[in-house]
Amino acid sequence: MLENKCPFCGSKNYGRIQPPVGDGFVISCASQKDGILDAGMPVVLYGCKDCNCIWMASNAFGDHE
Ligand SMILES: [Zn+2]
Repeated sequence: MLENKCPFCGSKNYGRIQPPVGDGFVISCASQKDGILDAGMPVVLYGCKDCNCIWMASNAFGDHE
């Protein structure tokens, strides 16, 4: 799925970020008035040590990891 390097700077110094608590990350929609609006989508986060970028991937769209 992902190339074997950071998509922003091309470094190989990147890795999957594990959450400090719990089993994984989700993104969700929220409003200041109504709070959290949906159940959220599970995502995996990757971070690059060289350019400090963080990006995410999700298997919610298909069968790839
Ligand atoms: Zn990078």
